[in-house]
Amino acid sequence: MQHPTQHRIVVLGAGYAGAVAAGRLARRLRPQDAAITLVNAEPHFVERVRMHQLATGQELRARPLDEMFAKTGVEVRIAQVTGVDTDRRTVSVTDPDGTGELAYDTLVYALGSAWDPQDVPGAAEHAHEIAGRTGALRLRERLAGLAAGRTVVVVGGGLTGLEAATEIAEARPDLDVTLTARGELGDWLSPKGRRHLRKVFHTLGITARENAAVTAVAADHVVTADGTSVPADVTVWTTGFAVQPLARATTLDVTDTGRIVVDATMRSVSHPDVYAVGDAALAAGPGGKPLRMSCASGVPTAWQAADAVAARLTGAKLPKVTPRYFNQCISLGRSQGLIQYVTADDRAVGAALTGRFAALYKELVCKSAAWGVANPTLGVPTRRRPVAPRTPEPARTV
Ligand SMILES: Cc1cc2nc3c(=O)[nH]c(=O)nc-3n(C[C@H](O)[C@H](O)[C@H](O)COP(=O)(O)OP(=O)(O)OC[C@H]3O[C@@H](n4cnc5c(N)ncnc54)[C@H](O)[C@@H]3O)c2cc1C
Repeated sequence: MQHPTQHRIVVLGAGYAGAVAAGRLARRLRPQDAAITLVNAEPHFVERVRMHQLATGQELRARPLDEMFAKTGVEVRIAQVTGVDTDRRTVSVTDPDGTGELAYDTLVYALGSAWDPQDVPGAAEHAHEIAGRTGALRLRERLAGLAAGRTVVVVGGGLTGLEAATEIAEARPDLDVTLTARGELGDWLSPKGRRHLRKVFHTLGITARENAAVTAVAADHVVTADGTSVPADVTVWTTGFAVQPLARATTLDVTDTGRIVVDATMRSVSHPDVYAVGDAALAAGPGGKPLRMSCASGVPTAWQAADAVAARLTGAKLPKVTPRYFNQCISLGRSQGLIQYVTADDRAVGAALTGRFAALYKELVCKSAAWGVANPTLGVPTRRRPVAPRTPEPARTV
């Protein structure tokens, strides 16, 4: 039960960024001062970084949100967010009991992203995706029913494409797996990283079609920019993510692609009572370069937003850390990996870890990211200071 003087914080989305932000806020603010509500469509936390594993038949650990947030003081609300009214400061939600509204004083928007078929003809109809659980399970079923010798084309030579192609080829050596890349295979990696990637592709029998942007997808093939038709019983689309469309329908300042523009504290540049974190936000990293959509950026942006919200409410110092990168951790199946060290703004340096040790390292990174989400308040030092009480407003329908 909320007290009328409590500051109402509503966090939208319980992915890596939203869950971490909610947990950290609970450690930074006294429960009598702030009511924190975390809204998510699914009752479980989805480990998106493991969707290629789910698609190839591996079982993932169930992580129910109500268990994760029990005793944290964060109220979990399982509902679909259907709108945000930044003038009335309300969020519209739908759940099996009907529709409703949640009022907020501070909003943390963390609705993440989904796949992006990019208007390529046939992609939305024929391609599979692994950006979320539903898509990964659909691909899992399709791959399980695929006879030996059939063709799989993974479109996209970025991190997700590399992880998907190697995982599928390792799990199903009887399939004919191709990866199509717009440029050269791993062209952003160090020479050592590229060499290792080619070696793993060779060992797993994956064909790399380089400088081959896909321009159309059909039920049984894809077409590349030079007109070549590549057989594809299954096409897996991994060319990047698109954010959820909700923010675009608000008065928030967003980019052309719908990401909410935020300052160094993850606060919306247009609405001081709104923060955005994770894939949903466009935040500047070192040198002003935008942070890329990733768990590696999402978690630090969540820490930053939670600390900034708490600091502004309690009069503490604002955080001054700019989220930065250290490495790109790429799984290449279960027994191979590649840890590419990078500059603070994400450019590859010469050093890279490869092989089995890199696979273990990547597994550890995934495990610790999930641990941080599943134990949202553990490991976060409690630094609770009193909040200035809110003046109660006339009752609103909520
Ligand atoms: C196969 C794969 C491998 C990846 N590997 C890596 C990696 O190795 N390293 C890395 O850094 N990144 C990786 N990523 C990217 C990473 O998973 C995402 O960048 C990250 O999940 C973004 O976190 P987020 O919290 O912003 O959003 P999400 O994880 O997408 O969470 C958003 C949450 O909001 C909920 N939601 C969305 N819309 C609504 C709505 N309308 N109403 C209610 N709830 C809603 C969703 O259910 C979800 O729980 C990978 C992604 C994929 C798909």
